[in-house]
Amino acid sequence: MTASPSLLAPDAPWVVLKFGGTSVATVERWHTIRRLAAARREQGMRVLVVVSAVSGVTDALKALCTCASEAREGALASLVARHRELAAQMQLDRADEMERWLASLAALIFPLSPGEGGEPAPGEGAGIRQSLVDSGPPLKPTSRRESAYSWQAAVQAHGELLSSALGAAFLTANGLATRWLDAREALLARDLPFLNERARRLSAQVQADPDPAFAAALAARGEVFITQGFIARDAAGDTVLLGRGGSDTSAAYLGALLRATRVEIWTDVAGMFTADPREVPGARLLQHLDYEEAQEIATTGAKVLHPRCLSPCRRARVPLWIKDTRFPELAGTVIGLQPAEAVPSVKAISSRRGITLVSMETSGMWQQVGFLADVFALFKQHGLSVDLIGSAETNVTVSLDPGENLLDSDVVAALATDLARVCRVKVIAPCAAVTLVGRGMRSMLHRLSGVLAEFGRERVHLISQSSNNLNLTFVIDEGILDGLAPRLHELLIRAGALRTDDAGLFGPSWQALYGAGAAGARAPWWKAERARLLELAENLHSPSGRGEKRATPRYVYHLPTIRERARALRALWSVDRVYYAVKANPHPAILAALAEEGLGFECVSPGELAAVEAVRAAHGSPRLFTPNFAPRADYEAALLDRATPVPEADGSAPGPGSRVASAEPLPTLDALHPLHHWPEVFEGREVMLRVDLDRGVGHHDKVRTGGAASKFGLPMEQLDAFLGLAREHHVRIVGLHAHLGSGVLDASHWAQVCGQLAGIADRIGSVRYLDLGGGLGVPSHPGEAELDLAALDAALGEVRRTCPQYELWLEPGRWLVADAGVLLARVTQLKRKGALHYLGCDAGMHALIRPALYDAWHPIENLSRLGAPADTLYQVVGPICESGDVLGADRHLPESREGDVLVIAQAGAYGESMASHYNLRPLAESVVIE
Ligand code: ADP
Ligand code: ASP
Ligand code: MG
Repeated sequence: MTASPSLLAPDAPWVVLKFGGTSVATVERWHTIRRLAAARREQGMRVLVVVSAVSGVTDALKALCTCASEAREGALASLVARHRELAAQMQLDRADEMERWLASLAALIFPLSPGEGGEPAPGEGAGIRQSLVDSGPPLKPTSRRESAYSWQAAVQAHGELLSSALGAAFLTANGLATRWLDAREALLARDLPFLNERARRLSAQVQADPDPAFAAALAARGEVFITQGFIARDAAGDTVLLGRGGSDTSAAYLGALLRATRVEIWTDVAGMFTADPREVPGARLLQHLDYEEAQEIATTGAKVLHPRCLSPCRRARVPLWIKDTRFPELAGTVIGLQPAEAVPSVKAISSRRGITLVSMETSGMWQQVGFLADVFALFKQHGLSVDLIGSAETNVTVSLDPGENLLDSDVVAALATDLARVCRVKVIAPCAAVTLVGRGMRSMLHRLSGVLAEFGRERVHLISQSSNNLNLTFVIDEGILDGLAPRLHELLIRAGALRTDDAGLFGPSWQALYGAGAAGARAPWWKAERARLLELAENLHSPSGRGEKRATPRYVYHLPTIRERARALRALWSVDRVYYAVKANPHPAILAALAEEGLGFECVSPGELAAVEAVRAAHGSPRLFTPNFAPRADYEAALLDRATPVPEADGSAPGPGSRVASAEPLPTLDALHPLHHWPEVFEGREVMLRVDLDRGVGHHDKVRTGGAASKFGLPMEQLDAFLGLAREHHVRIVGLHAHLGSGVLDASHWAQVCGQLAGIADRIGSVRYLDLGGGLGVPSHPGEAELDLAALDAALGEVRRTCPQYELWLEPGRWLVADAGVLLARVTQLKRKGALHYLGCDAGMHALIRPALYDAWHPIENLSRLGAPADTLYQVVGPICESGDVLGADRHLPESREGDVLVIAQAGAYGESMASHYNLRPLAESVVIE
């Protein structure tokens, strides 16, 4: 126990610490609260601790108000037991104050005199009432004139009264003298005539401006206080509530009243994230926010802060911190006045459920003077505040948010009846509102095409762009909300709209902070190899062979990374065979390493077949030949030259449909044309058939390979024709193949494809192999979640159990090699144009075309100045005469100089293999390191 410290100065600053439900639910957390409060007290601050009810207690009290009377006694008993148990764990021998509040609660639930509204009949629950009330200290009599809402408020207030009573006893018993403060003494609800009774009682608002007299009076009473969140009093002195989650707002009101140094919100997550981290594990910590943005994120659904807590703090200029009680050392989010930023970015995605849309239709209403005034007057009459508005010539649609409105079906029905007198009304519910928040939303619209496409597949009832330019909201059916946030989060990052590369703003992902799979946070290999890479960038060679010497641009591949990846795939129990998609990177050393790891090869041209020939011969690696719109000669070259059908098992001569020697690649067909026009090339052979499952997936339009707009795969309506041709020419379909696109991070994708292919295979009969394609994505932006291989295996395993007769194959390219390669480049020139800083380097779209072709995002760092503050915003460009020759737009890098070495990471896949001589610049050379 700490010794009692010296008295604080009368004007010592205040700090308000608010602890949420989970932060007050265990004795360990209470020890943390004591430590945190004591530390601030040691630093010379007066401390006001604001607590929520123990987690789950407000819900239980709410249920107690509405449950059947016969269930009340049991419900009350379990609340009593829960608090007594916690008191025992906190080693409070006498928790008199807590007992007093339990007694007061029992008296409210089981009154002796007749009640009103939702109150139970007198006489019920006599047993428990007697055990608590009659043995407890005397009670202030409950006013019998109170309405049902006022009774509910009084009942629910007990959660916080109980937890604060426990806290005061615990902190004092553990050496930190703490005074219990009744929050109703400090917080007086505003009398807002437009609020109906229910809102006045259960969702009250308080006017809280700095009040030096109150602060001084409190300071005269002590140094450390504890009080309740969630509750206040009204003008008549009755208890009112501040709305669910309102304890944050209590803390903010009190912080403003006391003009505190700051209000710290301690919860179960280290700050405000770019999305609800429980839904989006890749969500990134927002390290700082201004009040308006935080307000917008909270209002549009992020439960971590109660939306009403921002404005009292903003008005009184009190900063808000959000911190994790379990891990106090984590930095958290700081909300306050922030300097303007250089790069506009989406900061968060939030969503709200339970939205009700009211669509009002009438002809020519726009011209009708006063129509909107009449309509909105009805909303006001019913005490409903409107959130979003969409309008057309004959229709106005508005949304009602349950957070603001305490909606129930009676209120909405009554409103609809009244509205029906002036227009045609349609109520659409339940809906959900999905909001993108960020300052300067309009300037980001051009980056949102992927998001719009995602919504384009669903029915959107209303789109609204806020007039403060801070948000864009989509109202959709509630049923399609599930799983949407992770997809949108990923799309926004990939589109460069959520600028997670801005390390000054976006902290670690939730997954990196808390998740088991913190792999994404592992430092990339090239950081450890910095010295070697810098040396390679100095080491001149002559790529053109014409005596011209250069060291950069140069690709460097790290074989250990590739081997590790190959092993991870080989370890999947649901996958029988992995074929490397050679086009990703045909470097001979990579092919050799993968052959050694037991992978097969998927080749799309005679050139690729030739490239793997040597390692195939050495390791017996199987090959697939999967060209697209290839000329007849390619198949002939691949097959006919060395066609050696295997004799039948009984030694008889090979007949139609015989297996081919494993040395031969297994060809894949994806059109009728080859069997129609050149059947003799395939006569008697085994083939794979690539089908089009009529949908594409992936990180960019140009890598989606399904649907009629994509040239790949046999459309399903031609399947019977294909089967007929195959039968006629003794071609045996031994496998089905589908590949829907690249960059897929959704682990369930391959199981879905497998299910579909198995269905088709069952119809064909001869199929043994299902090739589920590649497309395994690699997160490119910092903090993006990795593809979860274990989940992939589990999902695929499930499907596999239903069709054990098929072998399952995968054919990844990018996933194996992307992270293993970097492109080294050297800074050539710097230029300033208006506000933009251009950083030129010798690698351009000739060396790496992915940014220009797919808007791909590659991490870029200045290797010469690694670790220096990245405080200059650059447009990183190459030397090619094309305005699309941009390797990275808006990148924060240290101030760079001519000659610095840049590393362009994740360039191992489709980098060197897609390079060109464009502008007659020589091809980049590549080296491999072990
Ligand atoms: P407390 O009980 O401490 O008041 P809450 O449950 O009210 O805590 O709020 C914390 C929760 O808010 C987190 O556990 C998280 O699931 C949720 N949440 C929703 N959106 C966000 C977001 N954008 N950032 C952080 N947390 C969020
Ligand atoms: N206990 C109240 C609730 O659960 C208030 C809060 O915890 O913020 O809604
Ligand atoms: Mg909360």
